[in-house]
Amino acid sequence: MRGNDLLVPARESPDASVTIGELLQRAANVVDRVDARWILQSVLNTDAAFLIAHAEQLLSTDQVAHFRQMLARRIAGEPVAYLTGERGFYDLVFEVTPDVLIPRPETELLVEMALSKIPSDRKCNVLDLGTGSGAIAITLARHRASTCVTAVDFSPGAMAVARRNARMHAVKNVVFIEADWFSSFTSEKFDVIVANPPYVAAGDPHLEEGDLRFEPLTALVAQDNGLDCIRTIIAQAPGYLEPSGWLMLEHGYDQADVCRELLAKAGFTHLFTRPDIAGTDRVTGGQYE
Ligand code: GLN
Repeated sequence: MRGNDLLVPARESPDASVTIGELLQRAANVVDRVDARWILQSVLNTDAAFLIAHAEQLLSTDQVAHFRQMLARRIAGEPVAYLTGERGFYDLVFEVTPDVLIPRPETELLVEMALSKIPSDRKCNVLDLGTGSGAIAITLARHRASTCVTAVDFSPGAMAVARRNARMHAVKNVVFIEADWFSSFTSEKFDVIVANPPYVAAGDPHLEEGDLRFEPLTALVAQDNGLDCIRTIIAQAPGYLEPSGWLMLEHGYDQADVCRELLAKAGFTHLFTRPDIAGTDRVTGGQYE
């Protein structure tokens, strides 16, 4: 039986009236319950509280058809964030498309670490390398009004998404630059540089699983066993940091030690590594004296 058929009990026609509660109940047999809720929220353009409060409400034939279409795509593996076109990150919701990596909860650690180094009472220059959806840059900008955030990505598709996200969140203190890492800078200096670069090794079996199958490989995979971009960023960052400026990077579960070695070799001190919410080493950084 195709998963989609489970939505329609045999005794009913596909167009038979169904309530919000019944539809979610049936969908939970074939996809994650939370995914089903997100999809229905998107179809009805509403929030989770509405679905709970109106579980008895009947849906229109069009709404059910739209839901079933999206559910079929989810069953085929498409990430729910690409289906609904959005994902919550830190305290905001961002537009996402297949041009950008879906913001991850573990990346919120990078935001927290960056905020701990960006004072709120004076102007700072912050750089976000490989901004993707702009989630990190825009969140930092929203939390530090006197900071100017420069957000760089080499993907025109990602830049377009990031710019729309900045408009949606009405941030005026982010500048977007389409460029490859530091290539567009000459004498610019930053107080804090953050990056969530691609760090998955080519051929890593995780790339064939779940959401990763649908995400841009350029945002996930780096040569040199996943370390190529991390090496480039650490090697070049000293040229673009103010004295005592900080560089911090998200990295893979087994890359903290090599990041610390590379940072030490490039002249960074006060090195730190922090675990994410799952307890995995996820962010490493240091200060350039
Ligand atoms: N954390 C992501 C994953 O493994 C990878 C993101 C990245 O390469 N920056 O799914």
